[in-house]
Order: sequence, then structure tokens, then C-alpha cells
Amino acid sequence: MRRKLVVGNWKMHGSRAANAELLSALLKARPFGGDVAVCVPAVFLNETAATLAGSDLRWGGQDCSAHEQGAYTGEISATMLAEAGCRYVIVGHSERRAYHREDDALVAAKAQAALARGVTPIVCVGETLAQREAGDTEAVVKRQLSVVIHQLAHCASEIVVAYEPVWAIGTGLTATPEQAQAVHHVLRAQLQAATGHGERMKILYGGSVKADNAATLFGQPDIDGGLIGGAALKAADFIAICRAAG
Ligand code: PEP
Repeated sequence: MRRKLVVGNWKMHGSRAANAELLSALLKARPFGGDVAVCVPAVFLNETAATLAGSDLRWGGQDCSAHEQGAYTGEISATMLAEAGCRYVIVGHSERRAYHREDDALVAAKAQAALARGVTPIVCVGETLAQREAGDTEAVVKRQLSVVIHQLAHCASEIVVAYEPVWAIGTGLTATPEQAQAVHHVLRAQLQAATGHGERMKILYGGSVKADNAATLFGQPDIDGGLIGGAALKAADFIAICRAAG
């Protein structure tokens, strides 16, 4: 039985005051039935770590460099995330792929850098609306994942995968539970064939998950929790989603 995982992706939101309120509400709402983490802007990592230390809530980054260190202005290394106590880092989010032109090879290199430092990469894959309408969903997500699997070789079973249809992120459009389950099933079969550990690996769904659709999505056999954007910013909504995974 895979334990559920719900991860909040704060994106470029938050302030010291708002974060303190949100994290304190999360701490008060524990325990949850599954694992819960928040991926916060890097500048807030240390205070998040200080607030959540000693609790069962985890934290993580939203991206990391593929490089260990060096003249890469503005970048943050996996080592730095590890030092900040991060359990997770999101890599390959569609916003990074779209606005920062990250390709599959770079995403794979970032996943490898994270794993090398003991930080679990949450590898995002997902199709655009045009790709779905062209019937290419399966091919797209399999290609995105296969590059990561190939790069990580025997460590590939250590990642978490997040299926995030691009057309569902921040749009209010959600994949139906059946649509999401169909893709998760394909991804799990791919992970199983490549690593032999697909049955124990976590595959999260992300894309306009809300308090009122979370339970049905998380009830699908291959959906192991969620990567939550907008709804992770309001304590009541995020707590309801975390409870839906319990
Ligand atoms: C995300 O940013 O990963 C995401 C799923 O966003 P939203 O929940 O707002 O669609």
C-alpha cells in the first residue's frame, strides 16, 4: 500500500506574515493520514525549516540547478537545498519548461543533482492542450519520463513523479479522475518496466486540485496524492485537500 503524499507548490507567492499564518494552521491541523510537504520560494526555506522542524511536515524547493556550484547567478544548488533541510525539490514544472525553456535533458540533470544530495526530485510531466487534442498525451509524458529514467539509471526508482496536464494548471480545468487515472496507469507501467519498482513509486496528480475534487482524484488506484498550486495558499483549502488524502 503506497502512502499518499500531498505537496503544496507556493510558486512565487508568500510573505513572512502570510507564511507564518499558513504554516501555523497546518501545524495545528495535524496529524494527517498521509505525508504533507510545502515547496516554498527559496528565500523562505530557512524560516519554513525553523517553523516545521520537529514536526512530520516536510518542505522543499521549487527548482534546483543541475550544477554543483559555480558562476551561475541566480541559481540554487541541490546541496544548498539539502542544507536547508529540504526533503523534496520540484523539477520540470511546466512553468519552468515554458518560461525558462527547460528541456527534458536539463530536467533529468536537475533530478540527478537532487538525488545525489539526498533530496527527492518531484519530476513533473504533462501534455499541453494541443498535444492532448492531437492524441499525443501518452507519447509526450512517456518521452518526458523516459529521459529522466535513462539519466538516473538504477536510482530512477527514488523519484516522485507528478502528472500535471499543462492545460489544467492554474486554469480551473481539472482532468477527470478517469483521464488522470489513465495517464497514471501508463506512467506506472513505464516505471515498473524500467525500474522493477513501479508498484511502490509515488505518482502525484496536479492541475486545479481543490477541496471538492481531491477525494475523487486521490481515490483512483494509481493516484498517490497531489501537487497543489493555488489551493495550497489558503490554509482551509490545503488542509481539506491533505485530509482527502488521509
Ligand atoms: C502547480 O502549480 O503545480 C499546480 C498544479 O497548480 P494549480 O493547482 O493551481 O493548478
